[in-house]
Amino acid sequence: MGKFGDLLEKQRNFFLQGKTKELSYRIEALKSLQSLIRTNEQDLMIALKKDLNKSEFDTYLTEIGIVLEEIKFTLKHLSVWAKPRRVRSSLATLGSKSYIYPEPYGISLVISPWNYPFQLAIAPLAGAIAAGNCVILKPSELTPNTSAVLAKLISEKFPQEFITVVEGGVEVSTALLNEKFDYIFFTGSVSVGKIVMQAAAKNLTPVTLELGGKSPCIVHEDANLKLAAKRIAWGKFTNAGQTCVAPDYLYVHSRVKKEFLHELKEAIYELYSENIFDTGLFTKIVSEKHFKRLISFLNNGERYLGGKFDETKLTIEPTILDKIHWDDEVMQEEIFGPILPVMGYESLPQSIREIQSRPKPLALYLFSESDMIQEKILNEISFGGGCINDTVYHLSSPYLPFGGVGESGIGAYHGKGSFDVFTHEKSILKQTTRFDLPFRYPTMKNGLKFIKRILN
Ligand code: NAD
Repeated sequence: MGKFGDLLEKQRNFFLQGKTKELSYRIEALKSLQSLIRTNEQDLMIALKKDLNKSEFDTYLTEIGIVLEEIKFTLKHLSVWAKPRRVRSSLATLGSKSYIYPEPYGISLVISPWNYPFQLAIAPLAGAIAAGNCVILKPSELTPNTSAVLAKLISEKFPQEFITVVEGGVEVSTALLNEKFDYIFFTGSVSVGKIVMQAAAKNLTPVTLELGGKSPCIVHEDANLKLAAKRIAWGKFTNAGQTCVAPDYLYVHSRVKKEFLHELKEAIYELYSENIFDTGLFTKIVSEKHFKRLISFLNNGERYLGGKFDETKLTIEPTILDKIHWDDEVMQEEIFGPILPVMGYESLPQSIREIQSRPKPLALYLFSESDMIQEKILNEISFGGGCINDTVYHLSSPYLPFGGVGESGIGAYHGKGSFDVFTHEKSILKQTTRFDLPFRYPTMKNGLKFIKRILN
């Protein structure tokens, strides 16, 4: 038995008792989670400040508030989602009734990253609870204060056989992946996503993979430049660019590039001030390793704005790099920091081809007033999801399932999507015993003729 064999066995025994499947149990658990978050808001704020220097405003908007909204939405709809639902029957199944029975997978493993260490751990957890699963949650070791608060709060409120937080790094994660789970929900990098999927394949465990990559942001010549600048500045520099769906790089029509960059500078000053080192409110880079990786990009292209950093505080100011080319170092991997490379374009079709020739992005943003251009981009480029004339905001709607495609991920959650990913839909045919139609049996006279008529 593996290191976590005992824990899994405990959870499995509990799951088989059927308690987590009861609607009232799920609702109670979600309400407990809700009150746990509300009453410990301050502890979470402090932990996130220590781990990432997140401001209280950012923490509430992007971590706590968004999760509370998710839970509220789930509580409102759960009784309908969880009910077996009747679907139509076909001619071939005359006399029978057809149903979909939603059922939880069982024991789910949730592995989360450090960039939104609260939201990206608890939002999937809420989905797993709503669907009736037991959960083992492995938060990121790079944000240890938040992980510790999560572990403490969850263990005080929920029995271990229902929900357990397991803290630790790669070793712990690897040991967990050696166990047989019924579902694995992973948020993190593409490279670790591949490791997770390989481990899951050994047991044919279904997975959701919420990964990353380089998300393009296109500013066409007909865009509302001032508004585009403000929305891009916010989407890119919130959380110091450490957002999976942050615009990774800008593609700006050459005719408006100069004017747009000026607007972008103004917007950055307005939202984050001219000197972020004075305000002390700007999110820091999570680790020295990531900090050094980011600093190495600063000599790419031509610096248009920013470039200053404070190594002791692991802080880098919002930085814009102009005159960037596809073969620059900064364009070879997901940036995940407050550095925004800018490329100009003359031909939109050429830019589309460049994007198409690379891994499918998690998000894509287009700023343009033209319906035709908007439809062209939406039809021609495959990506997880995104916005027209905005950035990042699509993930705030419970009606828009959020996830990637291709290398940016598998599966999507938020809103009903969070319930669905942790739910198996069991298809059931309830057959009548009042009569027994003879068509399917080989003994029926002229059976083949009849079957052909029905099935055609
Ligand atoms: P990561 O892949 O390094 O780590 C994620 C989790 O996996 C952590 O809990 C970590 O302990 C664990 N892990 C790391 N190496 C492992 C290994 N070899 N085997 C097993 N487990 C391992 O990612 P990160 O640095 O924490 O997060 C940043 C990445 O996550 C970025 O690529 C970003 O785009 C992506 N991301 C995606 C989303 C999304 O919703 N799609 C959200 C946030 C972040």
